[in-house]
Amino acid sequence: MVEKIGNLIAGKRVESLSGRYCDVFNPASGEIIAKLSLSSAPELAIAVENAKYAQPAWAATNPQRRARVMMNFVQLLNRDMDQLAQALSKEHGKTIADAKGDIIRGLEVAEFCIGAPHLLKGEFTEGAGTNIDIHSLRQPLGVVAGITPFNFPAMIPMWKFCPAIVAGNAFILKPSERAPTVPLMLAELMLEAGLPTGILNVVNGDKEVVDAILDHEDIMAIGFVGSTPIAEYIYTRGCANAKRVQCFGSAKNHMIIMPDADLDQTADALIGAGYGAAGERCMAISVAVVVGEETANALVEKLIPRVKALKIGSYDEGEHIDFGPLITKQAREKVLGLVNSGVEQGAKLVVDGRDFSSQSHKDGYFIGGCLFDYVSVDMDIYSEEIFGPVLCIMRAKDYEEAISIPMENQYGNGVSIYTRDGDTARDFVSRINVGMVGVNVPIPVPLAYYTFGGWKKSGFGDLNQHGPDAFKFYTRTKTVTSRWPSGIKEGAEFTIPTMS
Ligand code: NAD
Repeated sequence: MVEKIGNLIAGKRVESLSGRYCDVFNPASGEIIAKLSLSSAPELAIAVENAKYAQPAWAATNPQRRARVMMNFVQLLNRDMDQLAQALSKEHGKTIADAKGDIIRGLEVAEFCIGAPHLLKGEFTEGAGTNIDIHSLRQPLGVVAGITPFNFPAMIPMWKFCPAIVAGNAFILKPSERAPTVPLMLAELMLEAGLPTGILNVVNGDKEVVDAILDHEDIMAIGFVGSTPIAEYIYTRGCANAKRVQCFGSAKNHMIIMPDADLDQTADALIGAGYGAAGERCMAISVAVVVGEETANALVEKLIPRVKALKIGSYDEGEHIDFGPLITKQAREKVLGLVNSGVEQGAKLVVDGRDFSSQSHKDGYFIGGCLFDYVSVDMDIYSEEIFGPVLCIMRAKDYEEAISIPMENQYGNGVSIYTRDGDTARDFVSRINVGMVGVNVPIPVPLAYYTFGGWKKSGFGDLNQHGPDAFKFYTRTKTVTSRWPSGIKEGAEFTIPTMS
């Protein structure tokens, strides 16, 4: 019998009462491994009520004590790293090394949040007027929520709940239906770390529960990460309901390769950034824009054997596996459909991974690495986010033509340039209209103590939920003006002499 996965509300695992379920798969084998409850709006309301009840006492707990919960949580993540990674890989399909990377990236956010007592400090001006002081303080919002995607089931929930909780809020997490196990394990570790019950609740579900979050009047802020159409929907409806909302959306990340780049280094970088985690990363490089025909020919020659040598398989087949299956059968069909469209629309498929099948896992959702050359902006493989192990090569005559391609793209999540020319690198960093920029690095993912996010259709909303800005997103500022008695009489201010 397959396991049933429910919710975690008020510190306990509870079954959903909705009677609606969806299947959770092992993408490497195609087997159903669990049935996930799809919660109803009344169940969300119960979670919010519990969160609302628990939150004032948590907010009144001093920030240093709240930070100690994060400190314990970090230790527990390290203790359970192997177990978490196994569970993550089984449900998601990424390799154990990638699963550990996913957890460690989240763990780093928890580590950063240990600095909350400092990051939550207000400001103070003595004597802003005669006998007048003014100060500001940061207070938590109350109950806040996070809605997260399948591709980083550990890191992205931690991006959201760590700063929100350490700032004194209670949190409702709605993870992806496709990878729900690790978010529940994380919530249990937070409880073990000393978090009071009711402060972190996990409510699983689909659109019904997301809509209930968007409409619930006691949820003050929402952080979303996922695809752009859903990000736009959540941003619009959440804002219309007067909530603070920030949404991260889809991506199309380019790498520009200049003729002076080290091509071996560049080819290695493109293999990692383009095919790692089967391309199911929001920061995957899916387009390489090469300047000059000679450079493009030389780079393609270096890439072809590397793409063909990629080892594809299940996470439990050993450490030599480079990437695993796609998340669902539908995701595989979508990627195959896009690859077919690329061929039909005239791109040259120089490595064709469409027929790959695993000997040991015949029903897994695998696809081999694909490499396209001569891609142009009017093709679907360029305009759509593929989210699979497919790299597109575009050819540009010069730097200006190359930079105009990512500049004109609707997305602006990540971008990178490979060059050994300082002027070109400096110009690129300054002009490019993308949120995360790399110079001679494959994936420019910032660390937990930096505010980061995508631009254009990759990000909606001003205040950021990551890095130091997260402490602004999850709190509101109060300014206090107060009078105090002193020896200085009102009106006896110092007069500034005028210059003659
Ligand atoms: P998704 O948009 O399908 O789902 C994200 C969340 O929204 C899930 O919790 C899901 O249950 C919910 N959802 C889905 N459809 C909904 C609907 N109609 N109404 C309300 N809620 C709905 O995204 P995904 O497939 O899980 O994740 C992949 C996408 O996320 C890619 O586009 C990727 O680029 C993006 N992503 C972006 C970032 C970033 O930082 N910008 C990071 C990771 C992933």
